[in-house]
Amino acid sequence: MTPVWMTDDVALFRDTVRKVFEREFAPLEERWRRQHLADRSVWRQAGEMGLLCTSIPEAYGGAGGTFAHEAVVAYEQGRALVNSFSINVHSGIVAHYLLAYGSEAQKLRWLPKMATGELVAAIAMSEPGAGSDLQAVRTSAVRDGDDYVIDGAKTFITNGHHADLVCVVVKTDAARGAKGVSLLMVETADLPGFRRGRLLEKIGQHGLDTVELFFDGVRVPAGNLLGDEEGQGFRQLMQQLARERLLIAIGAAGMMQRAIDETLAYVAQRQVFGEPLLAMQNTRFKLAECQTETTIAQTFVDACIARQLAGTLDVPTAAMAKWSTTDKLCRVVDECLQLHGGYGYMSEYLIARLYADARVLRILGGANEVMKELIARSMERNA
Ligand SMILES: Cc1cc2nc3c(=O)[nH]c(=O)nc-3n(C[C@H](O)[C@H](O)[C@H](O)COP(=O)(O)OP(=O)(O)OC[C@H]3O[C@@H](n4cnc5c(N)ncnc54)[C@H](O)[C@@H]3O)c2cc1C
Repeated sequence: MTPVWMTDDVALFRDTVRKVFEREFAPLEERWRRQHLADRSVWRQAGEMGLLCTSIPEAYGGAGGTFAHEAVVAYEQGRALVNSFSINVHSGIVAHYLLAYGSEAQKLRWLPKMATGELVAAIAMSEPGAGSDLQAVRTSAVRDGDDYVIDGAKTFITNGHHADLVCVVVKTDAARGAKGVSLLMVETADLPGFRRGRLLEKIGQHGLDTVELFFDGVRVPAGNLLGDEEGQGFRQLMQQLARERLLIAIGAAGMMQRAIDETLAYVAQRQVFGEPLLAMQNTRFKLAECQTETTIAQTFVDACIARQLAGTLDVPTAAMAKWSTTDKLCRVVDECLQLHGGYGYMSEYLIARLYADARVLRILGGANEVMKELIARSMERNA
């Protein structure tokens, strides 16, 4: 079933993107996972192949596409299980903060280099003491002449080892709660007082660079503030969350389909009790259930993509897509792993990697419980 948003032009783009992930990047995943880091050159390569900043206007170096192009990249990256560099964070989040809130000078300075992969971007919200509750961030930015001086620490930062440009959530006024939150762009090259921690060891997504970042009296020009005045950060974060959460759901849908395709191929060749595992009724029913769940999830995600393209996707609906798709992903992958028997528990099998890689999607981008809270709050408002 082709979704309405998948025009001929977007379908052609999808075919190209699928080939790129399958042929160029998927074969490198194993090495990246072993070294706990993708090669820096992958970002340039992704830029050359047109995977970065697909929905950023050409005037800023982007491909001038729409959210449909971004959705294709997110889905195919999930489907190929290429999880060692986050295009979602780079193009889907940071580039769109710049596009929405950056000055003309900021856009021209950073977006073209992000589109080529010359600059790698990260977003630093979470801190050791503040994850779900972003109002509690303590990293401070104090105005001093023409600079801000940043002090604090961030943790769990995706793309953090390679990042040249970090959008940092700071408190410009500790006394004002959400109204004291601002977003500051930090260029990390040769920056005194800025330090990256070690690559954090995770249970999955082993090739993705996830690090702590430390700011010790770091000076950045006051012109690096996003928006015309301080205190806009919380509102800016809230406005972008729907598209970010939808991108997570899209990637999860791609991973779900991959789990099923992989399992179908496995059970067709695995012999048990003198017949293919696929011939057993339990196997057939489990796969039928998984495909049904995946098709239902994909259909809802497609409807959300259409609404995002029309500019009508709201926060609670995106939250529904995020929690329900990532939750289903984990259940589908678990069933698929079971059908692999002991081989499913061996790291060399893709389903084992999927199992470990999928789990974090229920936590990052807003924990699924937070998604349910957002949905419940909107129900309460409408009651
Ligand atoms: C691999 C990975 C990559 C990440 N990448 C980034 C990144 O690039 N940038 C960044 O800023 N952050 C990133 N994060 C951080 C991520 O966004 C946070 O882990 C997440 O928001 C949860 O925050 P926390 O870990 O502090 O958990 P806590 O806030 O301590 O929450 C713990 C648990 O409490 C429950 N909970 C929390 N709030 C509520 C609520 N309101 N109602 C009910 N239950 C609740 C949930 O079950 C939640 O999982 C990443 C995390 C991981 C693991």
